[in-house]
Amino acid sequence: MTETNFRTDLDADGVLSIVWDMPGRSMNVLTEDAIRELASLVERVASDEAVKGAVISSGKPGSFSGGADLTMLEGLARLYATEMAKNGEAAAAKALFDGSRQLSLLYRRIETCGKPWVAAINGVCLGGAFELALACHWRIASNDPSTRVGLPEVKVGLFPGAGGTQRVARLLPPGDALQMLMKGEQIRPDKARGMRLVDEVAPKDEMLAKAKAWIVNGGKAVKPWDEKGFKLPGGPVWSKPGFMTFPPANAIYRRETQDNYPAIRAMLQSVFDGLQLPMDLALTVESRQFAKVLRSPEAAAMIRTLFVSMQELNKGARRPKSVPETKLTKVGVVGAGFMGAGVAYVTAQAGIEVILVDRDQDAADKGKAFAEKLISGQVVKGRATGAQRDALLSKITPTADYGALAGCDLVVEAVFEDPKVKAEVIAKVEAAIGPDAIFASNTSTLPISGLAKASSRPDQFVGIHFFSPVEKMLLVEVIVGEKTGDKALAVALDYVRAIKKTPIVVRDSRGFYANRCVIAYMLEGHLMLSEGVPVAMIENVAKQAGMPVGPLSLNDEVALDLGLKIIDATRAQLGDEAVNPAQEKLLRALVETHGRLGRKNRKGFYDYPETGKKSLWPGLADLQDKKLDPETLDVTELRHRLLVAQALEAARTVEEGVVTDMREADVGAILASASRPIPAAR
Ligand code: NAD
Repeated sequence: MTETNFRTDLDADGVLSIVWDMPGRSMNVLTEDAIRELASLVERVASDEAVKGAVISSGKPGSFSGGADLTMLEGLARLYATEMAKNGEAAAAKALFDGSRQLSLLYRRIETCGKPWVAAINGVCLGGAFELALACHWRIASNDPSTRVGLPEVKVGLFPGAGGTQRVARLLPPGDALQMLMKGEQIRPDKARGMRLVDEVAPKDEMLAKAKAWIVNGGKAVKPWDEKGFKLPGGPVWSKPGFMTFPPANAIYRRETQDNYPAIRAMLQSVFDGLQLPMDLALTVESRQFAKVLRSPEAAAMIRTLFVSMQELNKGARRPKSVPETKLTKVGVVGAGFMGAGVAYVTAQAGIEVILVDRDQDAADKGKAFAEKLISGQVVKGRATGAQRDALLSKITPTADYGALAGCDLVVEAVFEDPKVKAEVIAKVEAAIGPDAIFASNTSTLPISGLAKASSRPDQFVGIHFFSPVEKMLLVEVIVGEKTGDKALAVALDYVRAIKKTPIVVRDSRGFYANRCVIAYMLEGHLMLSEGVPVAMIENVAKQAGMPVGPLSLNDEVALDLGLKIIDATRAQLGDEAVNPAQEKLLRALVETHGRLGRKNRKGFYDYPETGKKSLWPGLADLQDKKLDPETLDVTELRHRLLVAQALEAARTVEEGVVTDMREADVGAILASASRPIPAAR
């Protein structure tokens, strides 16, 4: 077979160098073609007497590989459905099982082919690619800052199903192994070395020579677990340390996920069962669990939304194709308050020069001080260097002089939510910037088309709606006003891409998209409280439904008086019928009678003591006209209410044409509700 995805070279010592370098792609991925070619190379290594061993590395400068092509896995799940329709359940299950364990069998063949294999890793090596490395007999990672290894499959509703669970759990003590598998983190080379996930760390340009030397010097082609007398690092599963690991791991899984992640449950089972078996049987157990997870609706939805759709949106699926890409070099941020300071930080982090304007120098300096605090925190945690901090801060120029905005490609305003203040700012900014520059507003409630009336060039006016905290939240809504032109939309999307956030394009309307779903969620919580559902039960069923925080807790974070302001504005704009009387009564009692504004004054649905944990305010019981007996309540129905309320609102936005692309509806709903943002699959 002639390979197109791999280059090979056999040296005088009999070491076959296999360089993975897929044409036309910036990063290697495990596609069906790549797997077929790798399988043929493995057979060549096994059978060719001239080959003493193999070193596999990547031809891509900054990466080894991001892992398996998830659309291929999605295809396997579809195969199950078609087989099921044609030949029934048993045939479908077999087809899926056989199809989904190809990679696992191939990696096992590498491990047992009798010749030593070394993985030489520079850059990211994740998922199925790191499972390939784990199957090799020796792993050398470069000490390049870009190098990371890890198994992030849980983040898309899967688990490492090509031997990853079994090999990690035979290399690491079970507690560490389960933690690594459950977190799906990307691990730096030194830490990976300490954990024994890699065997050696070397400078990039010495890595290949060292890999070859390991083979020439007699590197062993047998894994410890295939040798007689192998002992698991943490002792057997049925031992005291085993008992101290597995039952708590199950409890942690349930505490963290409320049993909403079948992939993690299946992974725990796979490790627990697999560690009691010899490797080949253990891999079969892993494959059975993997096939089961592949056909779960959770995996299908997570792959579609968090990988396929998110990647397409990140790559500019909604960007007008006719406009050439803008590489932003200078961006203005006006308003250095809570949001503006965050916007300045993420923009400078992307290497873009930022002019940060506020009413006076002091206010502008405060915005920059926020960026300094954030980046210094990163330095303390070892996530950034002193040089990176200095570089970032040197990009931000705080000033009260609008004239400094000259030369900006884009200006984002984040001043007070007041149309008059915004109109003044628009005029001042437009007087300072060039004719091609784009103006963006970060308003959360004011219609973009209304604000654009203050602009002398409304076609260059767009909404860029960030979520707080800006440095953590991955979602950005790009709002298209009546007169917003293609260039403004394209520049906004180029900017969002540059700062590595995920954009959704939303039509200008009240509440845009994401906040409408959030507001519907909080309203349902308020209604349950008014109906007499025990308050703790509302918060608990929300978490059981998979929400990161309960609706009452969330309302405390965004402020209860803001809720009342929204009610007032809704009445003014849409009339009495648009306001829910039970919700209004509840919020007025909390804010106006009891002075409870939320976390910001330490009094909301919860009490927030100076020290210690928050707890539900006992006075809430007095705001309920009647009390329902929890024993008579249907928990499933309550859970569904909290989810359906949001789904219905999302459907309405689609019906109204606010959101026009289902990918955006899915991705927006998840990223906006994630209090702990989900790392993007880029
Ligand atoms: P903030 O009060 O913290 O900051 C506003 C800043 O604007 C202040 O520093 C103020 O000095 C400055 N400012 C006011 N008038 C100015 C002028 N004429 N020229 C220059 N600077 C001026 O408010 P914030 O929470 O950062 O909100 C800012 C904008 O972002 C609002 O439009 C808001 O709706 C929107 N927003 C807020 C959130 C949030 O969670 N707070 C989320 C998304 C969007």
